Amino acid sequence: MTKKIMYDVIILGSGPAGLTAAIYTQRFGLSTVVVAGRTWGGQLQLTTDVENFPGFGKIMGPELMRKMRDHVEGLGVKVLDVAAESLETSKTPFVVTTEDLTLEGKTVIVATGADTKWLGVPNEGKLRGRGVSSCAPCDAFFFKGKAVAVVGGGDSAMEETQVIAKVASDVVLIHRRDAFKAQKAMVDKVMALPNVRVLYNTQVADVVGDTALTGILLRTENISPKQGFDSFDQLVNAFGGKKIDDHQWELPRQGVFVAIGLVPNTQIFKGLDVDSHGYVKRVEERDENGVLKYFTKTNIPGVFTAGDVHDARYKQAITAAGFGCMAALDVQRWLTETGS
Ligand SMILES: Cc1cc2nc3c(=O)[nH]c(=O)nc-3n(C[C@H](O)[C@H](O)[C@H](O)COP(=O)(O)OP(=O)(O)OC[C@H]3O[C@@H](n4cnc5c(N)ncnc54)[C@H](O)[C@@H]3O)c2cc1C
Repeated sequence: MTKKIMYDVIILGSGPAGLTAAIYTQRFGLSTVVVAGRTWGGQLQLTTDVENFPGFGKIMGPELMRKMRDHVEGLGVKVLDVAAESLETSKTPFVVTTEDLTLEGKTVIVATGADTKWLGVPNEGKLRGRGVSSCAPCDAFFFKGKAVAVVGGGDSAMEETQVIAKVASDVVLIHRRDAFKAQKAMVDKVMALPNVRVLYNTQVADVVGDTALTGILLRTENISPKQGFDSFDQLVNAFGGKKIDDHQWELPRQGVFVAIGLVPNTQIFKGLDVDSHGYVKRVEERDENGVLKYFTKTNIPGVFTAGDVHDARYKQAITAAGFGCMAALDVQRWLTETGS
């Protein structure tokens, strides 16, 4: 038989957003449960050094998340190491189901984050955090003076390139097509950078290295006329690469930033408004004087959101934590206003 437990707030996700929200709601005296998800701690579990979270100087991502979890559990919050399988919002209390639990909540904070869309090449998992990254603002510092690549052709690839080009010695932007999807203004800015070169019509077949990235295995089928090379050999030589066969070659690199998109974890939510990329849509509410009342509301009254699951722009641990705090404050206000 499944166990049913009722809470003031159910927090879905145990990244910086969810855990920060939990600190606040618990300290407000609200009964709080965190459903941690398959990767408790979220995206920072995937990284090594974090050097931009205030108060810590330099800390390993997993250690930072351990500290956040200890803080939350130290306050008496239950953190369940299970994933939500559904959220029923057609009536209140809301119902969250996991494999063998049914939780009832007067409110819910959706803080399920986003997962990097990785390349899916064989050695990627092994070299993640060892030269393979998905966050230039977070990791740029480690690539000072190094030769790196960025993979992608959209706005986020352009942003990553601009950030990393400030510190890296040279950057190769690898795009599988002949034209970028990114806004022209952003592309123009990238093209104007003296240390950035582009490889069009080129796919990443694998990343190379034992304990750290040393190169990228590429496949260039049709050399784009934009490259200005007459032959495959010319192209490979111009980039200092090593030819493997008529289409495959290895580009020596110490870092590669994967910027082919993020996938917000919203697939399980029915009835929750998301944008065309799957990010939760916030519904800001103001009072009669135009003063902001709620920032983290969603289209479902009583369901709030925090962190990368709604934020396609800032995507940092500190901003996610900030949104977690805001969602908790909104929940407290909501429960007071509705007398729940
Ligand atoms: C490699 C890498 C390095 C980074 N380095 C830095 C850095 O140095 N500094 C920095 O500020 N930022 C960094 N970031 C970005 C930062 O990690 C994110 O912005 C931040 O983690 C977002 O927090 P979040 O709580 O919104 O989501 P996440 O961290 O994505 O956490 C989401 C949580 O939701 C859970 N979840 C998902 N689905 C469900 C479900 N169905 N039920 C319950 N739970 C669920 C997940 O298990 C996870 O616990 C890095 C990101 C990556 C990928």
